Amino acid sequence: MNDVGLGLGISLRRAVIAAVLATILLMPTASRSQSAKNFVLVIHGGAGVIPKEDLTPEKEKAARATLDAALLAGHSVLARGGKSSDAVIAAIKILEDSPLFNAGKGSVLTADGTVGMDASIMDGATHKAGACADVKRVKNPIELARLVMDRTPHVLLAGEGAERLAKEHDLQFMPPEYFITEQRRLQLQRIQRLEKEKTHKAGEKKVQFNNLENIGTVGAVALDKHGNLAAGTSTGGMVNKRFGRVGDSPIIGAGTYADNLTCAVSGTGHGEFFIRGVVCYDIAAKMKYQGVTLANAADEVVMRKLKEAGGRGGVIAVDAQGNVAMPFNSEGMYRGVIRADGKTWTAIRRD
Ligand code: ASP
Repeated sequence: MNDVGLGLGISLRRAVIAAVLATILLMPTASRSQSAKNFVLVIHGGAGVIPKEDLTPEKEKAARATLDAALLAGHSVLARGGKSSDAVIAAIKILEDSPLFNAGKGSVLTADGTVGMDASIMDGATHKAGACADVKRVKNPIELARLVMDRTPHVLLAGEGAERLAKEHDLQFMPPEYFITEQRRLQLQRIQRLEKEKTHKAGEKKVQFNNLENIGTVGAVALDKHGNLAAGTSTGGMVNKRFGRVGDSPIIGAGTYADNLTCAVSGTGHGEFFIRGVVCYDIAAKMKYQGVTLANAADEVVMRKLKEAGGRGGVIAVDAQGNVAMPFNSEGMYRGVIRADGKTWTAIRRD
């Protein structure tokens, strides 16, 4: 090879090395530190009290089958290299469509016997987020949350305005009867009866609504092949809630949070406590400012801080390395995990 050929060979090699280095440096930190095989999806179907008589073996089987279906829907997105936010939405839509969970069809009822649904989504790579609150006829509120994130300069739209956006983008609407199940009607009657009895006994104006019966909010967090995190949550809120009440689920930082440098978190439980404790962000902040692991941060926030404040509930969380945490301080939490091997894992109680 002559000198010119040799020179060209060297500069070509240099160019290739420079291109490879540039690609590596431009990748998110997470992509560099973990292999693309590490992708994972974690879901929850709500935390709370699970009365034995309410969870018959048949119901448990049906609930687990739905969790499995949600995990597999999200997994198929991640396995083909799709985005974590798309996997989160795919999983949540399955749970919203099931009458067994408190989101979409099967949402708990307000004190007026109607539904008012909240949902949110956050992208850990861009920190973009979208949410909707108190929507009544949109079949999949999580889709509406994505619209708010992708198609508006806002983060949270509520009520009629949110539904107007859904209409403009042809989201599917359903009549009120679609969302209301017989089981939710009976639940509301039972709780309102209890509330009356308590109020009567206490001789006070009004006793607070019973929040222990609440379970079934849904959420998902994911790490995709590109090292990006996302989190989403969807709910009918708290049973027997007062007009206009909005919980933590559509509040970024309280019920949902995602940041590639720390973790993605979705919460479930008594929303007022999650809002006051900014629970999901608190977990990310502990990792960021104190350098603690995901497991320690999630445990400290859910099992100590939230519990001491009197809030019951739990979270699902994943970090940029694919570590998963699922602490809950309530009796149970419907939950499931799927990794690259495609095997589903689900649990309900502390087992
Ligand atoms: N966090 C929800 C809310 O307060 C309810 C739940 O997760 O069970 O609206």
